[in-house]
Amino acid sequence: MRAICARAGRIMTMSPLLAALAGAGGGGGCRRLEPPRRADLIVTNANVWTVDAAQPRADAVAIVGDRIVAVGTATIVDTWRTPDTRVIDARGRTVIPGFNDSHIHLMDGGRQLDDLDLKNATSAEEFVRRIGERAAATPKGEWVLGGNWDEQGWSPPTLPSKDWIDKVTGDTPVFLGRYDLHMSLVNSAALRMAGVTAETPVPVGGEIGRDARGRLTGLLKDAAMGLVSRVIPAPTRERRLRALKRALQHMAALGVTSVQDMGPAADDVDLYAELAAGGELTSRIRAVPLLTTWTAAAATGGLKPYALTFLRTDGVKAFADGSLGSTTAYFSEPYTDAPGQRGLLADEMQPLDGMRSRMLAADKAGQQFCIHAIGDRANAMVLDLMGEVAAANGPRDRRPRIEHAQHIAPPDITRFASLGVIASVQPYHAIDDGRWAERRIGPERAKTTYPFRAFLDAGVRLAIGTDWPVAPLAPMHNVYAAVTRATLDGKRPDGWVPEQKITVAEAIHAYTLGAAYAEHMEREKGSIAVGKLADLVVLGDDPFAAPPASLRDIIVETTIVGGNVVFQRPR
Ligand SMILES: [Zn+2]
Repeated sequence: MRAICARAGRIMTMSPLLAALAGAGGGGGCRRLEPPRRADLIVTNANVWTVDAAQPRADAVAIVGDRIVAVGTATIVDTWRTPDTRVIDARGRTVIPGFNDSHIHLMDGGRQLDDLDLKNATSAEEFVRRIGERAAATPKGEWVLGGNWDEQGWSPPTLPSKDWIDKVTGDTPVFLGRYDLHMSLVNSAALRMAGVTAETPVPVGGEIGRDARGRLTGLLKDAAMGLVSRVIPAPTRERRLRALKRALQHMAALGVTSVQDMGPAADDVDLYAELAAGGELTSRIRAVPLLTTWTAAAATGGLKPYALTFLRTDGVKAFADGSLGSTTAYFSEPYTDAPGQRGLLADEMQPLDGMRSRMLAADKAGQQFCIHAIGDRANAMVLDLMGEVAAANGPRDRRPRIEHAQHIAPPDITRFASLGVIASVQPYHAIDDGRWAERRIGPERAKTTYPFRAFLDAGVRLAIGTDWPVAPLAPMHNVYAAVTRATLDGKRPDGWVPEQKITVAEAIHAYTLGAAYAEHMEREKGSIAVGKLADLVVLGDDPFAAPPASLRDIIVETTIVGGNVVFQRPR
């Protein structure tokens, strides 16, 4: 387009996008001859919750290319409309920035979606039929994996055996875990490949299932599962690609427009890059390698970096302790239900000097820390280390993160704030653990467990994520968890430690702008504002008006990433 710059007094040529942005921002000293208002996409008739403090609400949004160019009343945004503009009528629905999940395990999640899930097999016949169908569709050389089966749902509740499935699976090996992961069913092909026979010695801590005549049943318990699982080959490229594509579809349908992938394998990141190059990523991926991987690679020239709009590698993930469920979260005082046990410090933290020197080096190279800490002592030690690193390497905008930040000693809440440490939290874990956690840690420590309210009140920045596939990827279920803290068993409908509830607005902020800040990307995304990436979702209901108990039922109608509609629920 052509525009006259009054100050320079001459005609200049600008790219349409640049001109559009200049126009939207006031245009400096330039007067436009021909309005550059040609939106590719307009979302109108919407209840826009922008997460932009400068303009919290709007009715419509205009998009050129992958950027937002106008946010405001329908009349103003309409000036961007041309006959070629695609218009989405939101029919009064709520529009918010796309969700940015601050902590997921992308390929694990994709594989889980791609594996056979027999949770809903309601009879032995259906169980056998579905395994047969999957075996028939499985490429030669691949295994049928997954499981999640539960014979208690069948009548009669008989444990399955390899005889049930051998006929329908043939030479395709099968390894299917029971839902509790303490037992698996394998077929004869799998036993052959693993060299397991009736003569195989039973491993310590395991059991090899046999029938009354002493023949193998194909059921393996605990340590015996390893006899077969050790021969399952690493997933083929085809299988990994399928898993990644399933994950991308799942993210799009849930309105998750950005994810921060913790500790991905290098070849998985290369696979993301292939899809990014082909324009096939429908969610922006930030890959955060393990600190140990980063350190090892630094000695030999460093990791392959990606810095694309759809794929970046940066930051480092490390572990300070284990989990509450397995009593390996590291506490100052013993577990209430396991006297004498305080949990386990991760091997990376022993000796502490090793951790410190790896952190000093990564920080010097400009990397951001994302360190897993669950128990109060692990959190305190990580805060100490972060403080020491900052003191040694001098001030910079480093935004260190503690992943999970689950059990915090009260004095440490203010230390998060003073050290500028971001709490990267997963509210769904709170309503899951809330069923039993108090037995394990007692009422006093429970008061500052998942202390979202205390963090915000102390001025700590929150970033929300799910830890998918450890918890469901569903953002509105996670928002529900943060707002209600109602445990999954329905026993605490008014919330477990209700003082730590946060509001819908606070949860959505932490899921969008807060999560973007936690990846140094708040200038690019996280709110609906002029100049930012056009990543937004249309929700089925208004979370600000909905009763808290129904927040988890709110669906995503439309997902837009970089100005492209990547998901549209059929109307
Ligand atoms: Zn995780």
